[in-house]
Amino acid sequence: MNDTIDNADATGWQDFANCLGVDPDLFFPERGASTREAKEVCKGCVVREDCLEYALSNGEKFGIWGGLSERERRRIRRQRALARRTALEAEATSSAGGASA
Ligand code: SF4
Repeated sequence: MNDTIDNADATGWQDFANCLGVDPDLFFPERGASTREAKEVCKGCVVREDCLEYALSNGEKFGIWGGLSERERRRIRRQRALARRTALEAEATSSAGGASA
């Protein structure tokens, strides 16, 4: 687990992190370095989902969180943003249709 997780407000999930006691540097590899070892630690972590959601909702840009790299988290953020936009557009279209009926 990394320092930012330690500062999380009243979550509690970090107490169950698989990475407790593991070298934090493992989760913040140099650019281009392997993330495999960190992801192996995350693989068996029971709070992986909580960790990932924490990172996504706090815009964590660096490191491995919830078993995902920065690039992988960016992809999820983009997918979610697209899904939100699509849902809003569908809602707007449906409302407009209702108003003209
Ligand atoms: S998912 Fe990985 S980084 Fe997150 S708490 Fe678990 S072991 Fe740590």
